Amino acid sequence: MSGEAFVTLATTDSYCMGATVVARSLRRHGTTRGIVVMVTPNVSQQSRLALESVFDEVIMVDVMDSEDRLHLALLGRPELGITFTKIHCWTLTQYSKCVFLDADTLVLCNVDELFERDELSAAPDPGWPDCFNSGVFVLRPSLHTHTGLMDHALQHGSFDGNARLHVQTDKLEATIVHFLGPVKPWSSSSQRDDGSSHATEQFATLWWKEYLSHTTPSTPGKQPSQDWKKPQQVPRP
Ligand code: UDP
Ligand code: MN
Repeated sequence: MSGEAFVTLATTDSYCMGATVVARSLRRHGTTRGIVVMVTPNVSQQSRLALESVFDEVIMVDVMDSEDRLHLALLGRPELGITFTKIHCWTLTQYSKCVFLDADTLVLCNVDELFERDELSAAPDPGWPDCFNSGVFVLRPSLHTHTGLMDHALQHGSFDGNARLHVQTDKLEATIVHFLGPVKPWSSSSQRDDGSSHATEQFATLWWKEYLSHTTPSTPGKQPSQDWKKPQQVPRP
């Protein structure tokens, strides 16, 4: 198969809320690509059903990969579980190219042009400009690359921020909001009250609007419903 897809990941019900917004915001802006979410078995059935109504494909993945050496390594390295799960997107070889989006991102306009970029394109990390931020990146699924990345992660630890890469940024940052850090839009309001900037609050408001917006039930092709309102103008910081 040679299709292309946006891919996100949710290993908890909270991150499923985020994944829902990723899919809705992509559909709102009329993507022509597939929209796929990887989930782990601990995600509740209710959350999975909700995801099925907005994603083209809900793919069950295991936090622990089937390879024994990985099990052993993970026993001593629980923090690598999510990292390995993210790397799982390289196994989606039914797609020729994917754009991975963290579940804490919000798409502000059509970003299908990202598929014109090649593996591996990403934006620099705001705190570590010579590293890339793995919240948004373009990849070509390949089992060979998958194995290589897992070996690398096992030897060197965190996947995030360990690679120096040629980065292509220009439009990426202006068109996708990434709520990186421990406080997410779906975090409790007491957490969010702590020092959020005005711009962050405005984007969080937009996130909630998208989360609470109505979507049509699952239909082939999943076109956005007619009564979707035009998104409001986002005030720039
Ligand atoms: N993630 C997840 N469950 C977790 C933590 C992370 O599914 O408990 C996924 C989710 O897609 C998330 C991504 O891994 O967006 C990276 O984590 P996060 O966005 O919290 O990291 P940050 O961008 O804040 O560094
Ligand atoms: Mn993130």
